[in-house]
Amino acid sequence: MSVAPPPPGGFEVAVETLIVGAGACGLTAALAAAEAGQEVLVIERDPVPSGSTALSAGLIPAAGTRFQRDRGIDDDDAALFAADLQAKAKGQNPPELVAALARGAGPAVEWLAERHGLNFTVVHDFDYPGHSRRRMHGLPSRAGADLVDALRAACERAGIPIVCGAAVETLFATPEGRIVGVERGDAENSRDRIGCARLILACNGFGGNPEMLARLIPEIAGGIYFGHTGNRGDALDWGAALGAATRHLGAYQGHGNVAHPHGILISWAVITEGGYQVNTAGDRFWNEAQGYSESARAVLAQPEGIAVTVFDARIAAVARQFADFVLAEERGAIRTADSIAALAAQFGLPEAALTATHAEIGGLHGPDRFGRDWAGVPRLQPPFCGVRVTGTLFHTQGGLDITPEGRVKRADGGVFPNLFAAGGAAVGVSGAGDAGYLSGNGLLAAVTMGRIAGMQPVPAADA
Ligand SMILES: Cc1cc2nc3c(=O)[nH]c(=O)nc-3n(C[C@H](O)[C@H](O)[C@H](O)COP(=O)(O)OP(=O)(O)OC[C@H]3O[C@@H](n4cnc5c(N)ncnc54)[C@H](O)[C@@H]3O)c2cc1C
Repeated sequence: MSVAPPPPGGFEVAVETLIVGAGACGLTAALAAAEAGQEVLVIERDPVPSGSTALSAGLIPAAGTRFQRDRGIDDDDAALFAADLQAKAKGQNPPELVAALARGAGPAVEWLAERHGLNFTVVHDFDYPGHSRRRMHGLPSRAGADLVDALRAACERAGIPIVCGAAVETLFATPEGRIVGVERGDAENSRDRIGCARLILACNGFGGNPEMLARLIPEIAGGIYFGHTGNRGDALDWGAALGAATRHLGAYQGHGNVAHPHGILISWAVITEGGYQVNTAGDRFWNEAQGYSESARAVLAQPEGIAVTVFDARIAAVARQFADFVLAEERGAIRTADSIAALAAQFGLPEAALTATHAEIGGLHGPDRFGRDWAGVPRLQPPFCGVRVTGTLFHTQGGLDITPEGRVKRADGGVFPNLFAAGGAAVGVSGAGDAGYLSGNGLLAAVTMGRIAGMQPVPAADA
């Protein structure tokens, strides 16, 4: 990936707003820019838009929506949401970015529903750690593949061209940092140049780039990357060449509840509803209530990097709203037994140790030795369920530093005249490491900041 001076021969075509990447961020930005009357083009490396968005559960946190009110949740608002975001990240996020995302998420979700027909509902039957209200919004299947398909269909209805099958490789910029166009190329070395009046980078982070991971987040570089491999840190490469500011490059979302070796995400509902994790010795090893992001590091630190998540049939019924959970059942990843001893046998765990762990939890009515509070948590009942899991990296959360409007900041102060970044290409609101990720921060940044960046006016040529 490179940055070059404006090409002497100019461009074959030019548009007002050019967007790199057709995940949730790029497609949402495209819808917003088109609605603002701009001529838009989206460029996507893959043959069909998918990205990490298609791998996700497609859940977007948003406060104060009509979907929440439909479920009787009428006491949520942007201020409460912002406070939850900052509490999870221990105040490490820029407050103005948090405020913009917390304020913009509800209107973004309602706009996608009303204007573009996305039929969201709010997850109402379990809590996500750190959210003080139930505010995760998803399509009925709770599958990100349906979210990206719905957004692509909305773009098609709006007449927005999405050019697939070739990556943007070079940005053309003036010495002042104004982006005048891009060059994209495919594997057959065919190239074309497209001019633009502004550029939105929606090409996610660097989870698919092992070299960047080893350099910037060595603690997770050895884990399985569970996101889209086409997210190779291109925004950071261009940013470095342009002199852009970055923030929180060590931040990421992990997940320590991915069925192994099946590679299927198991909803964290199995934990929040009363499940727990044990290592191969049958012992618990951490406070699972902290959240799923930091669970990756906790699980990977165990022997073989493996754990077994224990829950029960009632919880399985809750988790079945997720297509991934149903798939995990179909693939035999979820095992069921009438007793804890039989469950231990199914996973080759020491029976006495698992029985003792289970009994200890049964007697708890307050915080345990790891700090997890069991007060009011329903206790597991037979039949019991279990799944062997490992820790994975889902996506990086650091990136180009941006203003609340999605404008990319310069390392030496100020902003670039017509360069925007959002979603995983830009810094999120997950603090500096893995523990600041509040559930849904990925699509919060992709959809909400994508919409905000898309809505911005096209800067004047001499701005
Ligand atoms: C298993 C899993 C589950 C998740 N569940 C959730 C969830 O429920 N809720 C939530 O909020 N977040 C979730 N996340 C995170 C969420 O998926 C991401 O944060 C979000 O999808 C990022 O959106 P995006 O548009 O920025 O990136 P993406 O959806 O990854 O799209 C980026 C696109 O850019 C393209 N691209 C990259 N470089 C170039 C280039 N040079 N030229 C052209 N195209 C390029 C890529 O091919 C890709 O299609 C999950 C992630 C994973 C992996």
